[in-house]
Amino acid sequence: MQIYVDGHLVPEEDATVSVFDHGLLYGDGIFEGIRFYSGRVFKLEEHISRLYDSAKAILLDIPISATEMLEAVLTTVRANQLSDGYVRLVVTRGKGSLGLSPKSCPNPSVIIIAANIALYPEEKYSTGLKLITCPTRRPTPASLSPMVKSLNYLNNVMAKIEAQASGADEGLMLNEQGYVTECTGDNLFIIKNGKAFTPHVSAGMLQGITRDTAIEILTELGVAVSQETLTRYDIFTADECFLTGTAAEVIPAVELDQRRIGAGEPGPITRRCVERYREIVNSQGTSI
Ligand code: PMP
Repeated sequence: MQIYVDGHLVPEEDATVSVFDHGLLYGDGIFEGIRFYSGRVFKLEEHISRLYDSAKAILLDIPISATEMLEAVLTTVRANQLSDGYVRLVVTRGKGSLGLSPKSCPNPSVIIIAANIALYPEEKYSTGLKLITCPTRRPTPASLSPMVKSLNYLNNVMAKIEAQASGADEGLMLNEQGYVTECTGDNLFIIKNGKAFTPHVSAGMLQGITRDTAIEILTELGVAVSQETLTRYDIFTADECFLTGTAAEVIPAVELDQRRIGAGEPGPITRRCVERYREIVNSQGTSI
């Protein structure tokens, strides 16, 4: 495997960062997860643009331009001779002293890994996921905004542990007021009476790129989508539910906290979205 580290492609054994890197010491950095299918990278420009927005929000100067970053992603995928897979793009604050201040870190590091990924077993795309509500809350946008895709994923990791410990496939995260935000690494949609609803970004969550694609698909299917304040009640009483994420794609959810959602199996609109998403990702994107 060839990994891109600060402008060079190196074998995995040589792809290392310093123990003084603030990405490791403080989670001071940002990342993106990007998928490529059939020789094309899906929504590459959107991911790069979100990366630079995350960087701007945390005052991190990425040492290369967005165009160079885009090329670096393509070069890394090509070097690994992959046509289908997942890219993890990480920018850390870089090596510094043991103090918190990023002033001691003059050179942020850019790391690009291209590999394979399967987040959920294939059968879950036809049977659907079981969700539980996690005790761990999504932090308020009044602290670090959840819009920043930062290396601080401990809240999400805690929530994932809680979901797995209770035997569920995925965890639903609420905000401090108890409103629905998203799952540990995916956004959420429900369908009720033929209309789609997804939490408004003001609930405090990451604005997923797959979420945007799902909104486009629903609109194309003639399903009205509204972004609203949602509670667990809305999910309990929904007809259908699905999650969206780059790694997860569009995946049905059929249970929340032991309540069956709708008929307890993926509904017709969800199934069409799962299929349509797969068609779109296999036919659009930046050529590798
Ligand atoms: N929420 C969180 C917390 C995430 O980490 C992700 C990405 N895995 C998503 C939502 C989905 O975002 P995207 O569709 O851009 O992958």
